[in-house]
Amino acid sequence: MVESGQVVVAGAGLAGWRAAEELRARGFAGPITLIGAEPRPPYDRPPLSKKVLTEPDLDPSLPADFAALDVDFRPEETATGLGDALVTDRGAHPFDHLVLATGALPVRLPGEGRQRFLRTYDEALALRDLLRAGRAPGKALRLAIVGAGWIGAELATAAVAHGSQVTVVEAGPAPLAGAIGVPVGAQTARWYAAAGVDLRVATAVEAVCPGGLALAGGEQIEADEIVTAVGVRPATRWLEGSGVRLENGVAVDAGLRTSRPGVYGVGDCAAFESRRFGRRLRFEHWDVALHAPEVVAANVLGGDEAYDPVPYFWSEQFGRMVQYVGYHGDAESLVWRGDPAEPTWAACWLAAGRLVATLTVGRPRDLLQARRLIAAADQVDAARLADPGIPLKNAIDSR
Ligand SMILES: Cc1cc2nc3c(=O)[nH]c(=O)nc-3n(C[C@H](O)[C@H](O)[C@H](O)COP(=O)(O)OP(=O)(O)OC[C@H]3O[C@@H](n4cnc5c(N)ncnc54)[C@H](O)[C@@H]3O)c2cc1C
Repeated sequence: MVESGQVVVAGAGLAGWRAAEELRARGFAGPITLIGAEPRPPYDRPPLSKKVLTEPDLDPSLPADFAALDVDFRPEETATGLGDALVTDRGAHPFDHLVLATGALPVRLPGEGRQRFLRTYDEALALRDLLRAGRAPGKALRLAIVGAGWIGAELATAAVAHGSQVTVVEAGPAPLAGAIGVPVGAQTARWYAAAGVDLRVATAVEAVCPGGLALAGGEQIEADEIVTAVGVRPATRWLEGSGVRLENGVAVDAGLRTSRPGVYGVGDCAAFESRRFGRRLRFEHWDVALHAPEVVAANVLGGDEAYDPVPYFWSEQFGRMVQYVGYHGDAESLVWRGDPAEPTWAACWLAAGRLVATLTVGRPRDLLQARRLIAAADQVDAARLADPGIPLKNAIDSR
């Protein structure tokens, strides 16, 4: 077991922090330097689009005690390049092992108008202040959100709770079309309508202008504030030319190793070889940032572990708990479990007679059982899956 050597972690989000924490938990005794571009210690992002927007006292900081763990935390320091050492805007950090955990950055739209984003704690606090100011009598904020993805939906939920007039503009044919496909994503459109949100699908924004959005057909949407929530890109531009292979982020093997010896990639910035799904995949899931660093730590310490999860994601929108497990990229058919017009239902994706992914709305037990079924890769009976009265775990095809 390697217990010395210098570890440097680039990126102080959940994945970076967890890498440092796991190394210490597994007995790594050498120096660890954690470099983060933000001025704050690590924090959780999921609460930013949920409770931080509506609850005044919620602090999403992670319980990171750098002194107790003997981690040299360097806030407001940005990695700019990688040679023999990691190069930052403040100097160079030699390493024996380097963990790349720089996450992802929001995509910006063209145009001169001010666009806000919801990626950082500070951005969430600024949005909360705006939404609260909009509560004053006669001051209802006209908020335009570009993108009906997970974050657009969650922000719309919070903004409506603050009394804002919300328009969500989505280029795709349905909310969440990119994440979960049109048939399932389209079922969520009714949630926007019921909440009083003006959802415009199949509507492309050409530019963000002062005072509103310019749409592709020439129409304008007026708004006091605009939040762009059209997705993120891995924060890996700084690695170009470094010898680390980039392919939809940092390309890593099942052990989360990059093409450069001693360099690992983890979290939103990394696309790993999924043995389970037989391809390289990159997820923007909290659960991945939480657990994948366990594999990095084990392998830095001389192990040979593989990261092979059944991926899990959740979202809270319009009063509903939405959970997704698995990966439906190769699915051949979709089975509805319950009526999507009802408050609770699920959608199950199948490939070669096996369950590969499930989305549940208000059915947490289905989610847990689906995760086990996907992991087991047993053949399932579609008719039993479709019956919400039959526990999902009993949908294994026993023929
Ligand atoms: C608003 C919001 C809500 C979310 N809700 C959910 C949810 O409900 N469920 C779910 O599963 N997932 C959710 N996610 C996704 C989840 O938060 C991410 O998957 C997770 O944060 C990824 O962690 P990470 O450490 O890989 O990346 P990040 O959290 O992006 O952290 C990377 C850090 O690296 C820093 N950095 C970037 N470049 C450099 C550089 N060159 N040098 C130094 N530092 C750098 C960044 O500033 C950042 O602090 C949400 C994300 C957001 C933004």
